[in-house]
Amino acid sequence: MTTLIRGRSVLTSGPAGALRDAAVRVDGGTIAEVGPWERLMSAHPEAEVVGDGTGVVLPGLVNAHGHFSEALVTGMGESLTLFEWIQHLVAPVGPHLTRRMAEVGTLLRGAEMLASGVTTVNDLFVCSPHPEAPVTPGVVDGLERLGLRGEVAFGAQDRNDPRSVEEIFAEHDALEAAAAGSRRCRFRMGLATVLAQSDALFAASVRRAHESGCRVHTHFHEVREEVVASRQLHGLTTIGYAAREGLFDVEVLAAHCIWLSDADVEILAAHDVRVAHNPIANMILASGVCPVRRLQAAGIPVGIGTDGPGSNDGQDMLEAVKVAALLQKVDRLDPTAMTAPEVLRMATIDGARALGLHDVTGSLEPGKEADVVLLDGRTPALAVTHDPYQAVAYCTTSRAVSDVWIQGERVLVAGRPTRIDLDAVIDEARELAAELVSEAGLRNHPLLFTPETVARPAGA
Ligand SMILES: [Zn+2]
Repeated sequence: MTTLIRGRSVLTSGPAGALRDAAVRVDGGTIAEVGPWERLMSAHPEAEVVGDGTGVVLPGLVNAHGHFSEALVTGMGESLTLFEWIQHLVAPVGPHLTRRMAEVGTLLRGAEMLASGVTTVNDLFVCSPHPEAPVTPGVVDGLERLGLRGEVAFGAQDRNDPRSVEEIFAEHDALEAAAAGSRRCRFRMGLATVLAQSDALFAASVRRAHESGCRVHTHFHEVREEVVASRQLHGLTTIGYAAREGLFDVEVLAAHCIWLSDADVEILAAHDVRVAHNPIANMILASGVCPVRRLQAAGIPVGIGTDGPGSNDGQDMLEAVKVAALLQKVDRLDPTAMTAPEVLRMATIDGARALGLHDVTGSLEPGKEADVVLLDGRTPALAVTHDPYQAVAYCTTSRAVSDVWIQGERVLVAGRPTRIDLDAVIDEARELAAELVSEAGLRNHPLLFTPETVARPAGA
């Protein structure tokens, strides 16, 4: 089937740049052509047409870093820094996550991402494997039901965990098998952080990555405390230590990379490590500002991530795009520190490059898979579009996201996911979230809740 997705502007993130009064021709699952609307319409009168020519067409956005494991614990703990937030929120929740929670949480937050134009997600699910069954295949179940393209990883860690390396690796195995049997998911080996792994687990993780050649997803240098702790432990920054131990001999996606020496940047560039920048989580946890320009100047691809629902706390990718630009501007006191075309490139083709998916997605180019977003021009946000790049980066919210295609499949229509019953997902997520918070002992936790909420009488 042929579809023409029509816009007043088509921003390709590819060599064609920005086109006016244009369309994307989708044949089956791939992009056949991008060109002037008049020509494509007369050449393909049989085609289904979506878009009235007032909106903006974009490549699907690439969410370069997140955690569906936090899907049910949003909006808590705003006054904690990273290590406190891990101690009081993430660590207590991890042992109580089930495969069902993983699936429903992925459906809930995946739907939120999809409605903000995301077509590819890169997830690091941090949990303690459940004694009875693997948990993380629930992420693949959720992504498959939504139709999202996903890089999936289990964020392995074993500090304060009595389980053996074999038991922990069984979770990687289960996730890898689930991804192999899926339509649009690909396995990565995850490390929660290098410091959260024992020497034995880290050595085994590096060995497994080398033997299988699989890609790796982890965090680096999110806060200064991590760098100091690593230097105390190993005499090297975490990046220096990981390089010495051979982790960077495979393809690594590193979230954050905020606190970097010049030597750290050289190591990342020399080993072709890619970075996911997460401006909103970095602001909520007061972690710092990623030196995006320094990384890009060293040739390192930098994508944008929402980060997890527990530290963002929304999963709106368009919001992350806007904040990524604003944070660089205010940090450098320079309005040219990051521009709209640059930030949109980071959220599309640079994100795809960071994940090694740039031959598949990230731009509107013939031959690539048809991951396409249509923004509705008949919304207040886009009614006036003088400069389409600035209109998308600064004026648009997810309310303007009308339709989304992944691999040519229309998975969002008029802002609603087509493949799931969102109301049913919301009802179940609410129940599971209450169960999880109760089991994890977080109910009315004084550091996670606003005092006025805790003082509220029962049932209010
Ligand atoms: Zn993260």
